[in-house]
This record gives sequence, C-alpha cells and structure tokens, in this order.
Amino acid sequence: MDISSFNPPRRILMGPGPSDISPQVLQAQSRPIIGHLDPLFVNMMDEIKALLQYAFQTQNAHTFAVSAPGSAGMETCFVNLVEPGDKVVVCINGVFGQRMLENVERCGGVPVVVEDSWGEAVSIEKVSQTLEQHPDAKILAFVHAETSTGVASDAQALCALAKQHNCLTIVDAVTSLGGIPVKVDEWGIDAIYSGSQKCLSCVPGLSPVSFSQAAVSKLTSRNSKVQSWFLDQSLVMGYWSGEQKRSYHHTAPVTALYALHESLLALYKEGLEQSWQRHADMHSQLADGLTELGLDLMVDQSCRLPQLNLVAIPNGVDEAAIRAKLLNNYNLEIGAGLGQFAGKAWRIGLMGYAARKENVSLCLAALAEVLGES
Ligand SMILES: *Cc1c(COP(=O)(O)O)cnc(C)c1O
Repeated sequence: MDISSFNPPRRILMGPGPSDISPQVLQAQSRPIIGHLDPLFVNMMDEIKALLQYAFQTQNAHTFAVSAPGSAGMETCFVNLVEPGDKVVVCINGVFGQRMLENVERCGGVPVVVEDSWGEAVSIEKVSQTLEQHPDAKILAFVHAETSTGVASDAQALCALAKQHNCLTIVDAVTSLGGIPVKVDEWGIDAIYSGSQKCLSCVPGLSPVSFSQAAVSKLTSRNSKVQSWFLDQSLVMGYWSGEQKRSYHHTAPVTALYALHESLLALYKEGLEQSWQRHADMHSQLADGLTELGLDLMVDQSCRLPQLNLVAIPNGVDEAAIRAKLLNNYNLEIGAGLGQFAGKAWRIGLMGYAARKENVSLCLAALAEVLGES
C-alpha cells in the first residue's frame, strides 16, 4: 500500500458545519493525553459543566456534553424522555424536525405532527391548536434553528405554550447555541441539545445537553428502562456528576473535551451578547454584499438565522460547479441546499469563529469572481 500521512489543506468553512476552528482550539486538542479519571481531568470536566451552564443560560445541574455528535444529543433527549405510548407533538419545518419524528417513532411514542413549509418558522398558532386538541400530549419537540432552511422559530413562545399545556419541551439548539439567544431557564426549556461544531466552533463529535429538574424527574420515574444503555442519562449522571465520586461509564474523548473547554472559554471571554451581536453584524454585511451581487436571500427577515444564510441560485447557474470552484480556487466551502432546497439554494454559514469580517469579504469577492466567469 502506498499510503502516507494525511495532510488536509487549510479550508475556510462557511457551510452548515463543521465551522472554522480557531488556532487556540486546534492547539488545545493536541495537548498531552491524561487519564479520564485523573483528578485534573475531572476538574476540567467540572469547568466544562460550568461553561456550558453559562452558554445555555441555565442553573440545571444536569448539563454536560454527550460523547457523540449532535444527532446523539437529539437521541439522548428522546430515548430518556419518551416512553412507549407517550404522545409527543413534533414540529416539522425542515430536515431536523423530520429526524425528531423518526426518534419519537423509534421510542414507541405516539407522534402528532405540526407541519410548516420549508423556509418558514414553526407556527405558534398551529401548535397552540394542536395542544388544545391533544390535552394528553406529554412533550412538545421542535428545532430552534433549522439548518436545512436557515430559519429561526420562536422558542420562547413555544415553550410558554408547552408550559400552559403541562408538556415538557425538547429543543434542538444545535445551530442556535452561541449564534442567537438561547435562554434555557428564562424560557423554561426542559431538555435541550446542541453540537460542538456549529457556532461553538469546536471539533465535531460532542453534543452539549441540559435537562431541567422536571426532565430529570420524568427520567427517574420511568416505568421502562431507557432502550439505549450508552445514552441512558441515569447511568451517565454518575460519570459527570460533581457530587459523588466519579465512576467509570465510558472513556471520555479526552482531547476533544480539551477543545470544547477551550472553545467554551473563548465564548465566555467574548460574552454571549457580544457573540450574538457579532453573528448579527456579520450577517448584515454578508446580506448587503449578496444584494449588491444581485443574489437573493430566501428566508423572510423576520425569521432569518444570521449564522445560516439560504441564498437562491440564479437562473442558469450550475450550482455544484460554483461550489467546486470556490473549494478548489479559494479553499472556501459553502453548503449545498438540502431536501426541498437541493439544487435551488446555497447555504452560507457564518458560525462561531467563521463569523468574521475576513470571511465575509473573501466569500463575497470569491462569489463575484466565479459567478462572473460562469
Ligand atoms: C447539524 C445538526 C444536527 C446534527 O448534528 P451532528 O453533529 O451532525 O450529528 C441536528 N440538528 C440540527 C439543527 C443541526 O444543524
């Protein structure tokens, strides 16, 4: 076999994730490995919990990172909180809502779907009617920031509705955390999951989660065992909990957690409000530049995500060829459309460390050039 070391080029990542990572976070990952039950490591895990509580704006004790990507965070929430026969209202306005439905079905839950068009926010009106019609519903599940469409839904209003109807909430904040406001305690979110590789700008493969006291109570009063041993939070608690002596559950991804610690520290030092503002500012610079190029943003301003921009592909343009040119000539990655938007839109991400002036300028200049050539 003629195989040598893999040396990837330095790309600029402006797609739907993974996002650009700062040199500090990359360096953190190459620090010496120590045992995952080493007291120094345990102390670092406690710091990660505190930093995650800040990022999520919560006092929830049950706040930590699942050792697997965002999809496993999603699964963590569903397998722990949905018992066979539980009625779950699932909002679908893109790819990730569809996956939530898949999770409810696999847990033996009884789904009630609230469907909205791709590119639109979850309708508060429809959810309200659905909760009225299904007083036995136990959980409301929705995606805060739909990465497949670039749409933000009103998580605060949806959680308030759920509370009125005695439902727990499961919220997908994979793309929202760090990029737009996410306020777990103030909004009364019960179970939330995110991902390391979007606006947190960390290496992929970790999923921050947080459970409220009500969610923990639902878990501890289950009639049936959680179907997944690995994701069963009643077992993982003993590993991440600061109160009791740390016991082995699985081997933590030690170096990936160094990176998470570093990226969360950067967010803390910058400040959440400042980070949200930076994403908003970079979005408006990008939007202005795209308009000058004659390109249209497809999502209405009222529910547009700053960190994920859905851009209409002009008539007669070979969208894949443009992306290939950006990648090959500029080392710049932007995303293709997903699902209903495949072939119809690009997705330009401004997530975390990627939400910088240099990136916006490069992206606009590169797009102008390759579109001019095509
Ligand atoms: C990326 C993403 C996920 C899945 O995260 P992975 O880390 O790819 O498993 C889930 N939900 C949303 C909204 C996402 O953007």
